[in-house]
Amino acid sequence: MWDNLKLGEEIMRVVVCPGSFDPITNGHIDIIERACQLFDKVVVGVAVNPEKHPLFSIEERLKFVRNAFKGKSKVLVEAYDTLLVDFANRFGAKVIMRGLRAVSDFEREFQIAQLNKKLDPTIETLFMMTNYKYAYLSSSAVKEIAQYKGCVKGLVPLDVEERLYEIYGK
Ligand code: ADP
Repeated sequence: MWDNLKLGEEIMRVVVCPGSFDPITNGHIDIIERACQLFDKVVVGVAVNPEKHPLFSIEERLKFVRNAFKGKSKVLVEAYDTLLVDFANRFGAKVIMRGLRAVSDFEREFQIAQLNKKLDPTIETLFMMTNYKYAYLSSSAVKEIAQYKGCVKGLVPLDVEERLYEIYGK
């Protein structure tokens, strides 16, 4: 039954968790931490995405994500400005993991997953259900709250919270 398990042979299971992370939220952190329970290596891909006109530069977004996983040797954080499947292949990842919050996420995610499958049939997209505590949370919501001087405590890591107050005031 277990013939093809090849005990003793190292098979690293690598997953890519891609996103804009503009900025990283506690919802992202939850998904990535849960991916760490399932895979040997988690590569967080921060999309450069200039066409989305991010609030934070790629350097700052990388810094926030790296700070959030400081000391976690399973997690590698890298920027990418290529096709996602090319980024995944660069790290030997055969799985792309995306979070799903509401049904409204599904249509876009379904389209992207199909396109990625067409580009590289060897890579699978998996969807992780949001933790109900963060089902309402998105980077855009956080920025909007901060813009109107609302409290973002508990929604983002402390360094992001402080930077948002610097930008928008408290
Ligand atoms: P993108 O711009 O590519 O959608 P995001 O930075 O908004 O990137 O999100 C990155 C990933 O994290 C996506 O898979 C998204 O669905 C997931 N995600 C974002 N917020 C949450 C949340 N609150 N709960 C679960 N997954 C989330």
